[in-house]
Amino acid sequence: MACSKYEYVKQYEADDRLLPGCWIVVRLDGKGFTKFCDLHGFEKPNDERALRLMDEAAKARASGRSLRRGAPRPCRCCRRSPHAPGRALLLPQAVMSEFQDVRLAFGESDEYSFVFARNSQLHGRRASKLVSLVASCFSASYVRFWAQHFPGTPLAATPMFDGRVVLYPSNHTLRDYLSWRQADTHVNNLYNTCFWALVKSGKSTGEAHEQLRGTLSDYKNELLFSQFGLNYNTLPERFRKPASCGCGCLVAVLQGSIVIRQRVMHVKQTADGGTKEKERLEPCVLHCDIIRDAFWAQHPELLA
Ligand code: ATP
Ligand code: ATP
Ligand code: MG
Ligand code: MG
Ligand code: MG
Ligand code: MG
Ligand code: MG
Repeated sequence: MACSKYEYVKQYEADDRLLPGCWIVVRLDGKGFTKFCDLHGFEKPNDERALRLMDEAAKARASGRSLRRGAPRPCRCCRRSPHAPGRALLLPQAVMSEFQDVRLAFGESDEYSFVFARNSQLHGRRASKLVSLVASCFSASYVRFWAQHFPGTPLAATPMFDGRVVLYPSNHTLRDYLSWRQADTHVNNLYNTCFWALVKSGKSTGEAHEQLRGTLSDYKNELLFSQFGLNYNTLPERFRKPASCGCGCLVAVLQGSIVIRQRVMHVKQTADGGTKEKERLEPCVLHCDIIRDAFWAQHPELLA
């Protein structure tokens, strides 16, 4: 009660509970990634390592491990152990393994959208709680997984992601939102593919932007085909092989990454040296069209 005289300041906190019954989308976007890419030597137009790292920060690794450590070293100054010896240290993995209410996610370039179930009651649907937790979980995971995806490239800046919350009142508007992001992926990639092809062929960045300014996709497709021998429209089909998926390949670049929870079989070792199979729902990355109906007909549970 000692603080009661000051408690009135709580009234200044805004009530930011989100409307019930709407889909909640939290979209993150990397802050200043144009510079961040330069600083870390990202390949242009698309660095596959960076795409895989984004996917991992969204979903975490397939093996979802709990780290079991042996006796930890005591602190050098106070000699206290950071935690009891041999105790399992469960580390939250990344956004979709931490927040079970996220139904699906869509990622491209330096952005990721997370769709929470429309009836989610997580943190009382408070917008600031949701967006800040998702953004900090994603940023922290991005840092944790950096070295695995960029071995030999030290992280030279603090990766930051801004976040916003948008509500969609119906399945229709949610699908249109996701279609908008995937269409944006196609448009940006066609532009970037042309831009970097021109730059790599000797044009300055200014000249390349100038040549592409205001042009339509037909022009860009023709440019890629006639000048660089690249048939952009057939790339997705050409690369649509199971072996090349799930790894930030060209399909990933063209379609973006869709993360949904799927049943995955795990083989576990038993105490008597045998093995046991166990099925678990795990976030999995797909690279496919989500604009047309086929994907949604295949996964009716997503919008239920
Ligand atoms: P802002 O802070 O306003 O978002 P930004 O520089 O991050 O500024 P964006 O519009 O978000 O601007 O663009 C992201 C930039 O990062 C683009 O130039 C994009 O090409 C680049 N980028 C993101 N991911 C990759 C990747 N995997 N490989 C190469 N470039 C990438
Ligand atoms: P929530 O997610 O709702 O915030 P919480 O467990 O983080 O849950 P808080 O009310 O934020 O709850 O309390 C933070 C807890 O962490 C307290 O129990 C506090 O004593 C402990 N804590 C924070 N910093 C330290 C510290 N430096 N040393 C010891 N304990 C700490
Ligand atoms: Mg931005
Ligand atoms: Mg950005
Ligand atoms: Mg962006
Ligand atoms: Mg606290
Ligand atoms: Mg706390």
